[in-house]
Amino acid sequence: MPPLTHTHWHLRDAHELAREHGVDPALGLAEAEAALRAVQHGPNEIAAGERRTPAALLLDQFKDFMILVLLGAAVVSGLIGDLVDTLAIVVIVLLNALIGFVQAWRADRALAALQQLAAARATVLRGGRRVTIPASRLVPGDIVLLEAGNQVPADLRLMTIAQLRIDESALTGESVAVDKHVRSLSEAGAALGDRLNMAFKGTTAAHGRGTGLVVATGMATELGKVAGLLDRSGELQTPLQQRLAAFGKRLALVVLAICALIFAIGVLRGEPPVLMVLTAVSLAVAAIPESLPAVVTVLLALGARRMVAQNALVRRLPSVETLGSVSTICTDKTGTLTLNRMHAEQLLAEGSARAETLRAAALCNDAQRGADGAWQGDPTETALAELAAAHDVDVAALAQPRIAELPFDAERKRMSTLHRGAAGFVLYTKGAPESLLPRCTAHWSEAGALALDHDATMRQAERLAAQGLRVLAFARRELADADLSAGAETVERGLAFIGLVALIDPPRPEAEAAVRDCLAAGITPVMITGDHPATARAIARRLGIVTDADAPVLTGTMLAAMDEAALRARCAEVRVYARVDPAQKIRIVEALQSLGRFVAMTGDGVNDAPALRRADIGVAMGRGGTDVAREAASLVLLDDNFATIVAAVRDGRRIYDNIRKFVRYAMTGNSGEIWTLFLAPMLGLPIPLLPIHILWVNLVTDGLPGLALAAEPAERGVMQRAPRPPGESLFADGLWQHVLFIGLLIGGLCLGVQAWALATGHAHWQTMVFTVLTFAQMAHVMAIRSEREPLWRQGLASNLPLLGAVLLTFALQLATIYVPWLQPIFKTEALDADELAICFGAAGLVYLAAEAEKRWRRHLATRGTQAGATSGKQAV
Ligand code: ATP
Repeated sequence: MPPLTHTHWHLRDAHELAREHGVDPALGLAEAEAALRAVQHGPNEIAAGERRTPAALLLDQFKDFMILVLLGAAVVSGLIGDLVDTLAIVVIVLLNALIGFVQAWRADRALAALQQLAAARATVLRGGRRVTIPASRLVPGDIVLLEAGNQVPADLRLMTIAQLRIDESALTGESVAVDKHVRSLSEAGAALGDRLNMAFKGTTAAHGRGTGLVVATGMATELGKVAGLLDRSGELQTPLQQRLAAFGKRLALVVLAICALIFAIGVLRGEPPVLMVLTAVSLAVAAIPESLPAVVTVLLALGARRMVAQNALVRRLPSVETLGSVSTICTDKTGTLTLNRMHAEQLLAEGSARAETLRAAALCNDAQRGADGAWQGDPTETALAELAAAHDVDVAALAQPRIAELPFDAERKRMSTLHRGAAGFVLYTKGAPESLLPRCTAHWSEAGALALDHDATMRQAERLAAQGLRVLAFARRELADADLSAGAETVERGLAFIGLVALIDPPRPEAEAAVRDCLAAGITPVMITGDHPATARAIARRLGIVTDADAPVLTGTMLAAMDEAALRARCAEVRVYARVDPAQKIRIVEALQSLGRFVAMTGDGVNDAPALRRADIGVAMGRGGTDVAREAASLVLLDDNFATIVAAVRDGRRIYDNIRKFVRYAMTGNSGEIWTLFLAPMLGLPIPLLPIHILWVNLVTDGLPGLALAAEPAERGVMQRAPRPPGESLFADGLWQHVLFIGLLIGGLCLGVQAWALATGHAHWQTMVFTVLTFAQMAHVMAIRSEREPLWRQGLASNLPLLGAVLLTFALQLATIYVPWLQPIFKTEALDADELAICFGAAGLVYLAAEAEKRWRRHLATRGTQAGATSGKQAV
């Protein structure tokens, strides 16, 4: 036989391949051996697009066209005139670039850390134990365990399977999931989609389970081979950034026109043209909000990093900015609102059926005992295993090899396992009562089959469900042969009912408060569960999602019978959905969205992925969830906790507020500078500021205090206001008016001080204008820390980084005025006490004006609330 190339694994026998890879499929590789192979083969990673190197990030800071023009102009002016001026300008531009670089680098690092956290994991056998490790640590020879919802972590030659179906669309484009088997194939040239005994990295297990031998990792996988062809079109901007960039371009044209005007008027008035060029270009550099999108990235990335500390992992940056708009949170019940710590409360079975129910609970169960003796697996199943063990069922001895199985799926709400029986085989089935009971034709007893009272049994199950319990029914069937290939519909039929078990899953203690927070913040909490309607309603009531004992519950069956219009009408009021198939969640999302809601939706299973993608914010579970759900989500809850979603929304609102604060601050400063330089010639005043002053103000004010706004804590009442409409402009709610008018006030004060100083013969007028401008911006930044609340109520200490930045800026400004060797560089002169006091006074006026505006806002808000309360129309 000619030597097979390393891609011909599908032609080989799986066990023979395992021997070749030096691994016992029952034990997996030893850790030490895996470590050796990791060195040899490298990490199991697809080389990501080139990361931006620090040098590239630094260079990025000089891509701005106006900065290049400024540097060019500075060099020209240096050649024909003052070298000190040129050097000073170059140094300031460099410092500015350095700040930009440090910020970009911090954002990059924060994002890289997030990516690491979001990295895929894989379950493998190592040294006889099941362990979950980062997928990057897989090596050839590892034995990987796959379950529905897992992303295939490397190229695998499948060894065992149970109903395993794999969605290979990511690799082959084929959208129908493929049934896999483990037999060797004979066709060497089979296309990837035809290699039915292989599972390829990057595809996902859609159904069933299996194990496979890792035959290729990283770039050696089929995915790795095509990775080079993938589109790496770089990072996308968030919607807000796109809008800001577009806005910045338009604003740039206006600023450039104003700068051209200032230049023309200056030259006409006989100012030196070189000075006028530098003045105009400096103003353009300072006032064009070129860096806004970059700053937004920084604020979003740093915000996202903070959110991780609270167990909310953001997978897509734009979600950080839209989180605050969420107006409906659709959440699973189990594990998110409840602890998912199930405990069996009641076992309802007669006589000999009790022991048989326990037997079924132990056998029809995927839970496994971990090294520490605790049960591991799905909480429903571990609770059943514990129940069996507590009743002295020798679970280990019972563990007869499972001959075949029909794994659980959320649509069928059942699972079955096949075992050897006294004569032939026994199939044990467990599942939701209303899914199982109709398939039962008798009531099992040791003495022989009895008649089954379907209605009475169903009523019994309903009664338990109304107490908030999860009820599972157990049944069995004798089979002559071990073939389940006919499928669940055929096999799970003619069953003999054995008994019921009721499990309790206590609500999470913090969920009730989180639901209350939601309601106060104008967010509607909605429960969507696969559980029974009565169980769902009982838990929803306990948590405050609904208040009435007979609150409406919409079931999957009712939902299936409705058209879109009917569903939309019901969705407006219903807060509990039960027995809903994951596939129906997408209809609920769409109905809510058509009502104008901005929907966050949680999910953990394979079938939840489409709804997660469709929702405005898809939320996946970090602990219990599947890889597929995580891939589809924009937010991952590391603790699977409902309260974390609410905390994330709160953070989203805070971060968005802070972006607005930064924009308010930076643009008002720019507007002040423009007004000053634009109005001076109109009023017959000499040019108030030199290029170096403009650049300095831009450097220290925008750079330091502006970014400290990222540390601003959430506003009081951030969760007591209605969600922000998602399409709302960043400049809504009076922001652009603020920019214009407070800017005009700053400009007016600068020019007023200038005119006064000139009229009264103060020689230091230019230094005074320069100082007023800086101080005014410091006063302004302190005043706009909140959109509503006065500073004295917030307290100076509630944002120490900002206080530090403001004090540092004051100190630096005083240094430019009073340090003798800095004076010639900044063209300043020492101010006397009176002059300095006037500068402080002018800044104080800006502070008072901004506080007055907030007071006016508070006044409007209380009037609005009163009007709303009297007309009863206040938004909740
Ligand atoms: P959600 O997380 O959406 O609130 P859930 O986790 O309760 O819902 P599923 O896991 O889809 O919903 O379960 C739906 C129903 O299937 C359960 O109410 C239960 O009756 C049944 N069920 C759950 N787990 C198992 C299992 N391991 N074996 C058999 N039946 C099960």
